[in-house]
Amino acid sequence: MKPKTQIVNLPVYQPGKPIEEVKKELGLEQVIKLASNENPYGSSPRALEAITAELGSVSMYPDGSAVDLTVQLAGMLGIERNQVIFGCGSDEIIALIIRAYLQPGDETIMADQTFSVYKTNADIEGAISIEVPLVNGTHDLPAMADAITDKTKIVWVCNPNNPTGTLVSEQELVSFMNSVPAHVMVVLDEAYYEYVTDASYPNSISMLKTYPNLVVLRTFSKIYGLAALRIGYGIAQADVISLINRVREPFNTGRLAQVAAKAALGDQEFVAKCRQLNAEGIQYLQTEFDRLGLSYFPAHGNFIMVDVNRPGKEVFQSLLLQGVIVRPGFNLYPNYIRVTVGSVDQNKFFIASLEQALREVSTPV
Ligand SMILES: *Cc1c(COP(=O)(O)O)cnc(C)c1O
Repeated sequence: MKPKTQIVNLPVYQPGKPIEEVKKELGLEQVIKLASNENPYGSSPRALEAITAELGSVSMYPDGSAVDLTVQLAGMLGIERNQVIFGCGSDEIIALIIRAYLQPGDETIMADQTFSVYKTNADIEGAISIEVPLVNGTHDLPAMADAITDKTKIVWVCNPNNPTGTLVSEQELVSFMNSVPAHVMVVLDEAYYEYVTDASYPNSISMLKTYPNLVVLRTFSKIYGLAALRIGYGIAQADVISLINRVREPFNTGRLAQVAAKAALGDQEFVAKCRQLNAEGIQYLQTEFDRLGLSYFPAHGNFIMVDVNRPGKEVFQSLLLQGVIVRPGFNLYPNYIRVTVGSVDQNKFFIASLEQALREVSTPV
């Protein structure tokens, strides 16, 4: 049998290590995972109630087009219903956009380094990823605009960027959009949108009217704390959504995910509380990093990329043995680790473990 040539050497996505696996492997009783940007406060109790109430209906297929959820979200955002598409996580929306728009040989532009799912899906379609280096951990939008050619179909802007946590401001985004030809799609990945407190953050939804080539992605996996249910969405002009819908599987979001997402949207108090606690957590971690003499990128999501001045993989290993799972291994940033902002207790435990790790792993001379 002969698979598509472009998939043979594709790396398999390496997720953060699961807590149970680490506990068993290392014989640890307490393990905290600060590796996948999950919500340390769980999810809204209303979402859990909605799931429980729906359990009797799991023998029936979900509403394939998630009408109730669509109506609620469109109302909240002040957009039309036909401007929304839901997916099995926003990961699926990324895959659907690429399936709908990229052919072998097409070019797609993204930052180096950014969320890996864009490139993986482009590789699967045989498209060419042009990776434009970040500057100070931030998207270099002028350089990305310069990289556009006749073959460019999609540009990806992850805002805040994963893994660096940095922001692109509304002003920067607007001048970028003005320099992008109308036939090139710009996908704005706002997985951490609800966490952002910086006033310069773009109001992307209001930009959709001016820029018909703009697509915005958001998710219920991060601040809403519904990562296990796999539900996220894309917003764009109706004709773009209609095209992406052609490559969507009929029942791509589940019944439990849909009711939980509806209930979670209705509990903005929970969202506001998590945003506030996260901002306090960022403050705490940044103060501790300053005390330890470590630099870091300005954090706008629920995670921080910190320069540990030593191989990140060795610091990761030392933290792991102490029961803290973080993320190392970013090509451009071998001396960094990415840590998710946890609860107050988790953050304290992480800092104590980090101090131990910094003593154990020596600085290269
Ligand atoms: C987590 C994340 C996503 C998608 O998460 P889903 O669980 O698939 O909704 C998308 N983009 C970025 C940058 C992320 O960090």
